[in-house]
Amino acid sequence: MKILLADDDPVSLRLMQRTLEKYGYEVVTATNGIQAALELCSPNGPRLALIDWMMPDLDGLGVCRAVRSRNENAYVYIVLLTSRQSSEDVVSGLEAGADDYLTKPCHPAELKARLHTGHRLLQLEDKLVEAREEMRFKATHDTLTSLWNRGGILSLMSSELSRSARNHTPTSLILCDVDHFKRINDTYGHPVGDEVLQQVSLFLRELVRPEDSVGRFGGEEFLIVLGGCDNAALRRRSPQICEELSRVPFITKEGPVSVTLSIGAVTIENWNNSMSVDPYLKEADAALYRAKAEGRNRAVFAESMASQ
Ligand code: GH3
Ligand code: MG
Ligand code: MG
Repeated sequence: MKILLADDDPVSLRLMQRTLEKYGYEVVTATNGIQAALELCSPNGPRLALIDWMMPDLDGLGVCRAVRSRNENAYVYIVLLTSRQSSEDVVSGLEAGADDYLTKPCHPAELKARLHTGHRLLQLEDKLVEAREEMRFKATHDTLTSLWNRGGILSLMSSELSRSARNHTPTSLILCDVDHFKRINDTYGHPVGDEVLQQVSLFLRELVRPEDSVGRFGGEEFLIVLGGCDNAALRRRSPQICEELSRVPFITKEGPVSVTLSIGAVTIENWNNSMSVDPYLKEADAALYRAKAEGRNRAVFAESMASQ
């Protein structure tokens, strides 16, 4: 594990570095507080730090404050090295953001044990962050397909629209619904229906650009948000999705299953954040309904786009 060692005294720096390397740490050294703060605030910087209290320019307390003032990075466990022992000093060290302190000269076994405590806390923090990220993913993603779920894709759509308002660019929405999906379930069984939904999801994900977002909007309905996509591009890309999907059947455990999609699509121009997206979603839905009525396996565009 990487550890930052900051000390302005070269002799004690070298001594301590040797001890830490003996304990298996990869030691990054700094000879002043500013250098130490920069190392700790850099991406992938050390997460364990042993910092001398008294240093020129920026002292150990200053380093603690600098590290604690940014909260987006991973936690850094800081042990202050000090010759100060009064309770007031200890309190001000801890208040500045240090996790622990060691008085110089420090006993190697105690140093090892205290750093081990830091290590344990960092591992605990990593586990908590991982659990939080997993929960965040589950709250915004669909379990069957791993696509954004309805809430996730709607919130992404809002962000995309805000961005389009700032940049004065259009955003397009494609609402897709699998044709006669009930028949697939009835013919091959629900598990094959699930498999088809997973394969359709993968297919859509691969067909759109990395910056576009795909969500499962309902049972066998998907919403694609295409940032910066204008009307002309939407008119090119939507039928392509239907064509590509219908070209080759999906291979399932019950054999090949042919699948087609119907699409209702709309482009949103001149968005401002006081507007509501509901009328646009309704337009896309009405267009999708017309695509079904006109024979399915096709893309139909919102009526407001008829003249464009
Ligand atoms: P249309 O072409 O008009 O869209 O017909 P359809 O059969 O696709 O539409 P309908 O709404 O009649 O049926 C959709 C079916 O999708 C009914 C529902 O049981 C099934 N479904 C919804 N969610 C899931 C799912 O997660 N897994 C499976 N296997 N089936 C699902
Ligand atoms: Mg359907
Ligand atoms: Mg449906």
